[in-house]
Amino acid sequence: MPELPEVETTRRGIAPHIAGRRVREVTVRQRQLRWPVSRRLDSDLPGQRIDTVDRRAKYLLLGTQAGTAIVHLGMSGTLRVLPRSAPPAAHDHLDVTLDDGAVLRFNDPRRFGSWHWTRRPPATHPLLKDLGPEPLGDDFDGAHLYRRARGRRAAIKNLIMDSHVVAGVGNIYASEALFRAGIHPARPAGRIALARMVTLADAIRAVLGEAIRQGGTTLRDFTDSDGQPGYFQQELLAYGRAGEPCTRCGEPLRHRVIGQRATYFCVRCQR
Ligand code: ZN
Repeated sequence: MPELPEVETTRRGIAPHIAGRRVREVTVRQRQLRWPVSRRLDSDLPGQRIDTVDRRAKYLLLGTQAGTAIVHLGMSGTLRVLPRSAPPAAHDHLDVTLDDGAVLRFNDPRRFGSWHWTRRPPATHPLLKDLGPEPLGDDFDGAHLYRRARGRRAAIKNLIMDSHVVAGVGNIYASEALFRAGIHPARPAGRIALARMVTLADAIRAVLGEAIRQGGTTLRDFTDSDGQPGYFQQELLAYGRAGEPCTRCGEPLRHRVIGQRATYFCVRCQR
């Protein structure tokens, strides 16, 4: 599933090819995605110039004068910029044809992705308005986590995966960050000292930042008509490694379901 680093890598991969281009046409082959593709996308977007290509949490925002397309990649969605002559393949549900003859093509086998259109400032859209700060932005730090954890008995892993607290920290990166910070994923959030929250916030930023840097090596895949954009697997120290020795202490890593999601941790290093 595309996590925040993959979405950011997608943004960087497509932005140079679509920003500043005018939209000639929108072709929707399959409207039934996670939500039906907004009909205003077809009516409002053609003729507009794509001024900005931004990201908020795991949403991509294509900004124009008339409004903003809000795109989510869901479980299996990909975006590529291809020549218009490239024939659509299975699961190529939507094309945005540009004035230079390229198409921005959306493929999504599982159809959990989505395309919304809003004429209002995107930050006021129901999908975005209640999101917490960006984990890589200036508003997110240990003090923020500490404040939001006051009085909360929920597991710390659930707190950092709550998009109202911080936007876009998925299951893999939550496990990794907690491992690096030495915090047990099931520890009640309200019982973690400020200093440890600072360590945790730094770890979240570090794992996401490293993944984005790693994704930078795959940028040319976004204009490659063969295969799929290179979603990448970061070198993970904890996630998916149940039974393997902890890289710090050698204790076999454990696996447990927390908040209905697979969680990997070391009982000796994480308290
Ligand atoms: Zn350990």
